[in-house]
Amino acid sequence: MLNNLKQQPADALLALIKLHNADPREDKIDLGVGVYRTDTGATPVFESVKAAEKLLLDTQDSKAYLGPEGDMGFVHALMPYVFGAANPTMDGRIDGMQAPGGTGAVRLAVALAKKAGVGRILMGTPSWPNHAQIAADVGVEIKGFNHATKAGVADMDSLREAIAGAEATDAIMLHGCCHNPTGIDYTDAEWDEIAGLIKAKGILPILDLAYQGLGQGMEEDAYGIRRVLAEVPEALIAYSCDKNFGYYRDRVGALYVLAQNADAVNIVLSNGATLARAAWSMPPDHGGAVVRLILSDAGLTASWLNELDVMRARMNEVRAKLGGAGVQGSVDFAPFGTQNGLFSIVPLNGDQVLAMREKHGVYMAGSGRINVAGLTMGNIDKFIAAVADVTA
Ligand code: PMP
Repeated sequence: MLNNLKQQPADALLALIKLHNADPREDKIDLGVGVYRTDTGATPVFESVKAAEKLLLDTQDSKAYLGPEGDMGFVHALMPYVFGAANPTMDGRIDGMQAPGGTGAVRLAVALAKKAGVGRILMGTPSWPNHAQIAADVGVEIKGFNHATKAGVADMDSLREAIAGAEATDAIMLHGCCHNPTGIDYTDAEWDEIAGLIKAKGILPILDLAYQGLGQGMEEDAYGIRRVLAEVPEALIAYSCDKNFGYYRDRVGALYVLAQNADAVNIVLSNGATLARAAWSMPPDHGGAVVRLILSDAGLTASWLNELDVMRARMNEVRAKLGGAGVQGSVDFAPFGTQNGLFSIVPLNGDQVLAMREKHGVYMAGSGRINVAGLTMGNIDKFIAAVADVTA
């Protein structure tokens, strides 16, 4: 029976890690996997997380089951940051459940949309590859539109056309901030327009917020999703704490539901609980409990926000330096300066990406995607010179 299965391709980014590890060159640069790195290339555990983990170790008195919704203290503690401190539940119209990472939350969102009758999801491409994989696995079609223009800004015409041609049973997937892989976010004015277009068409927004605080700031990065939520009757929001709390492998996320009233929210979440029960039963507790502890202590919250500020400042410093490099070889670096978050795409072809690796020891995805946090003040000039060389 099992020999009916066919070999699946290895994850390209994981294969890249292996190649990078095997490269003896001292000055090699890893721009592959999407984790934050400090100026010395480390991905440390946050101090605030360490402190809250100690607290959890000392105070947690049971590991008995919680339920498919996970730690609701965590789910609720996050809401003022996501939806605004003034009215985080939007008058009882938003509630949520914990999920195993942003991936688990996206999976739940897509499965709930499908269960509710959504047949197709409009999505800007390129996108995080797992969006399409999840949709395929759940059995929802993806209708792609072009996310960005060659000039490095959002392709609003393509988005407008996609929404204009949408059917009543369509949903639309949007990245809240720090678009993966392009780094190209909508401006506030574009979000204002998008919110109106979605409202007018009556399609279901699925909003993926995986990098809040890594772009322009916690409040600034929530502008788009809050604008959409202010207009629409219903939405699904997939949230990840894996980047903004540095929790990657511990899988911390939440799914939020906006519906017309609290009763409708509860019905949707009861379906979420059923789906979770059949998939992972309940989410891993540890990271959610720690985030709850951080957010319920003013000192730890301040410390966490400060660590996030340091990360964002470093990435924006790297971006400013990239943006200032002007045109090098055939690549205009200016757009990297205004893009947001961990990722950007360098317009290189497959041969050029290979030359970056073989000739210069710069490891990046085949798509040309780079993790800008892999760049430091110590290696950025080498990177820019390598791009100039392979595109000369
Ligand atoms: N959405 C997007 C756009 C992402 O880039 C990622 C992470 N790469 C996720 C969701 C999921 O994040 P995680 O499962 O690691 O929390």
